[in-house]
Amino acid sequence: MNSKWMTELWRAGGLLLTVLIVGWFFGHTLLFLLLGAIVYLAWHVFNLVRLERWLRYGEKSDPPASTGLWGDVFNEIYRLEMRSRKQQRKLARTLNRFEEAAAALPDGIVVLSTNGIIEWFNTAARDMLGLRSPQDIGQRVANLLRHPDFIELLSSGGPTGTIELPSPVNGEIMLTAQIVPYGREQHLLVTRDITRVRHLEQVRRDFVANVSHELRTPLTVLNGYLETLNESREECPKSWVRSLQLMRQQAKRMQRLVNDLLMLSRLELDNKTHHQTLIEVPGMLAAIVQEARALSGERKHRIHLEATPGLQLYGNHDELRSAFSNLVYNAVQYTPAGGEIHVRWFSDDRGLHLQVEDTGEGIAPQHIPRLTERFYRVDSARSRESGGTGLGLAIVKHVLSRHGAHLRIQSELGKGSIFTCDFPEQAVTRAPGATGA
Ligand code: ADP
Repeated sequence: MNSKWMTELWRAGGLLLTVLIVGWFFGHTLLFLLLGAIVYLAWHVFNLVRLERWLRYGEKSDPPASTGLWGDVFNEIYRLEMRSRKQQRKLARTLNRFEEAAAALPDGIVVLSTNGIIEWFNTAARDMLGLRSPQDIGQRVANLLRHPDFIELLSSGGPTGTIELPSPVNGEIMLTAQIVPYGREQHLLVTRDITRVRHLEQVRRDFVANVSHELRTPLTVLNGYLETLNESREECPKSWVRSLQLMRQQAKRMQRLVNDLLMLSRLELDNKTHHQTLIEVPGMLAAIVQEARALSGERKHRIHLEATPGLQLYGNHDELRSAFSNLVYNAVQYTPAGGEIHVRWFSDDRGLHLQVEDTGEGIAPQHIPRLTERFYRVDSARSRESGGTGLGLAIVKHVLSRHGAHLRIQSELGKGSIFTCDFPEQAVTRAPGATGA
């Protein structure tokens, strides 16, 4: 038992003994015992009242002076109070540090509570989104930022990627916005100024488009003259014939490069395609397969077309033709003579699929994720030799993304590859009377 309790026991014992002796002396033991109990109780009540008043009004003052058990209670409460205040100060300091750090971030941060209510935002968010403090605290963010893409992002309620939107303060400033869920139904809206990045991309795109455009005319002229020279090669000195042939080859390759670069520029220029045209894909594929057979020539690939009759697709005719023919020509290019190529066009419950399967050289797994990068080739020399530009799959990827589709690549080294374009179901339509695959 602790010493304060002992003191209290002694004190109560002493009082009891005193009232017993005095009561016995006056012959009223019980009465004095009662009086003693009342005094003892009154002393405790008095201390309880002091404790209550100190807790209620004393806030930062020292505890009331008292001895024994009550003194201990006062001191213990005072000690706990001091410790809790110290922790509060420490917490407030930490919180301040975090708030200062978040406020100094170059990215805009908006803390949103349930229903997208703004709880806090930093300086960058204020500047980028035109938020005002304290007026906008407690407002719904959807009432202040009304861009349709942002409303859609907000209603999706999860980490659904990043959108781009112009700043409501200045339309020249381009922002990315991302919603990051955290805690309980809380979200962080993170915005970033990408004006400079977009500007640099635009400069690069314009540069590539301009260079390609400028090169097109001289190349057409060169090719024209080279063709004329080729037609009258009998009249040329013998030593020129080989050089002439190489010049024609390289000039054609340059023209293909320029055409592919221009195609990519066009695809990048307008990132939304209008899917108004209903494309008769089986017919388009039949023409591509015909051309692929011509390309195969002496190599005599066995090219099979299995297309669901009447299965059509809303999309851009030229873009899709370019993408599909790139895949089929690649199969011809990278499959040894006599190999087999299957071109399939079918639908299932996941959508619509264009598949090109070959029994060619295949691709090692480490190359597959990078194949759609511009100028990425597994074997550069081989690709150049076969007339490849290294841009084919980049074009395919762009065209597909503009049609809401994806490219899937499966391949095994030495066995062959399967390139599949997966189109979403909403793009599917069927000619009247046509039957499914
Ligand atoms: P390229 O003009 O070089 O063919 P692409 O972008 O069309 O450029 O293809 C990129 C690379 O992917 C090619 O260089 C080749 O290495 C590889 N590739 C594409 N299709 C196939 C295929 N069917 N089989 C094997 N490799 C392929």
